[in-house]
Amino acid sequence: MTGPLIFVVEDDRDVGRLICSTLEGYGYRTEHFVLARDLMGRLRQARPALVVVDLGLPDRDGLQVVRDLQEAGGFPVIILTGRGHTSDRVLGLEFGADDYVVKPFEPRELVARVRSVLRRFERAAESLPAGKGTARFAGWSFETESQTLITPDGAAVVLGTAESDLLKALLRRPNRILSRAFLLDLKGDAADPGPFDRSIDVRMSRLRKRLGEDPHDPRILKTIYGAGYMLCAQVGWE
Ligand code: CA
Repeated sequence: MTGPLIFVVEDDRDVGRLICSTLEGYGYRTEHFVLARDLMGRLRQARPALVVVDLGLPDRDGLQVVRDLQEAGGFPVIILTGRGHTSDRVLGLEFGADDYVVKPFEPRELVARVRSVLRRFERAAESLPAGKGTARFAGWSFETESQTLITPDGAAVVLGTAESDLLKALLRRPNRILSRAFLLDLKGDAADPGPFDRSIDVRMSRLRKRLGEDPHDPRILKTIYGAGYMLCAQVGWE
């Protein structure tokens, strides 16, 4: 299976299994964790597209887990909370969760929420600033109007439009996983290449070369296995 990877942290094993099997029925890949500790450990090796967090965990306050997830990379988060725990929901959203589902819930409702949060994350593009101006990141800068990339040494390289659009899309959404499907969509490719089109990988490796990245250990443009790509840097726009 190659769908987006969803992590589920839920100490009730039956509920956790039900969530995972429902999501898998819709093409997602899942991993279930009973403890927050196991989830955080796994995040050092794998990056999910989204994390479902039960707020009532035995080893850590669920809200703290939500906060940790924000710090670990700004993962989209959906919280599961008990009926009537209004303050949990409000706090969860304040802590950076993207949505919540109240227990007991219909598994398909959770799938719908997952889908909509993922879509919102990917479509955030349209509501972001037009991306005009200059982006500064990791010692580099990129002037969007002239499509000029300036190296840390001050050398200027003019990028082609495809590369430039890709870089702009990444710079507008730093530290977030962007799927191949989303990145391909940027150009509105008429042929609808589908999420596993390889042309994006080719563009990405060209862009890495421009940025002087080691293809085996890229620092700025990371491949997130099974999920897509992420630009890892602080980006400032001027
Ligand atoms: Ca629980």
